[in-house]
Amino acid sequence: MTDMNVGLRNLHGLLSKLGEVREELARGPRQVKAREALMQKAEAELASKREALKQAKASADRKALDLKTNEGKIAGLRAKLNAASSNKEFDIIKGQIEADTVANSVLEDEILEALETVDRMQIAVGEAEQQVTQTREERDKRAKEVAAAEAGLKSQISELEVKVKDAEKILSGDAAANYRRLVDAYGADALAAVDGTICTNCYVAITPQMRVGLNSGKVIFCNCSRLLFVPEGK
Ligand SMILES: [Zn+2]
Repeated sequence: MTDMNVGLRNLHGLLSKLGEVREELARGPRQVKAREALMQKAEAELASKREALKQAKASADRKALDLKTNEGKIAGLRAKLNAASSNKEFDIIKGQIEADTVANSVLEDEILEALETVDRMQIAVGEAEQQVTQTREERDKRAKEVAAAEAGLKSQISELEVKVKDAEKILSGDAAANYRRLVDAYGADALAAVDGTICTNCYVAITPQMRVGLNSGKVIFCNCSRLLFVPEGK
């Protein structure tokens, strides 16, 4: 294997590693952001459950107040009943009392139901609170991990950038300028390995002359533009 090929293979390896570390550095904040979004969703859910609980409580309170008002009304009617001056008046008041008593019995059922709803919503609020706590902890944990890894990743990137710069020295002239354009656009994919005679970027066979050129250490660009190199053992 020629020095050129060893050099290009080395350059490709360094660029790949640099790409991975850069991606890892970029991935951290994205993951924190995603967890932040989950936390905000849980917070919105909690707010809506709390509001529903508030409404359910108000509804139960309203019904309890209605019941009390009706009970007062019935007590008033009972007093009137005793003071009724005629059978007709007595029957009318008695009928009102019966109707109000039925209404109150319906109200009592509704109050029980409303209180059950309040209990259920209380549980739902508790669960939503747990969800908020959990998502917040996950966000904080990831944010801490990302912050802790940042300096290390940045220094790895600096070291790799120095090594890449050094490895790039095997290229000169037009080839170097061509490579620069490619690496700016594609990163490590600026270089493509040749599998036998097939470019692993475009999957088209290179010409026998190109393969001979590669074997003899020439700088060869594929028709798909990529800088070709021969991987280990090929
Ligand atoms: Zn190609």
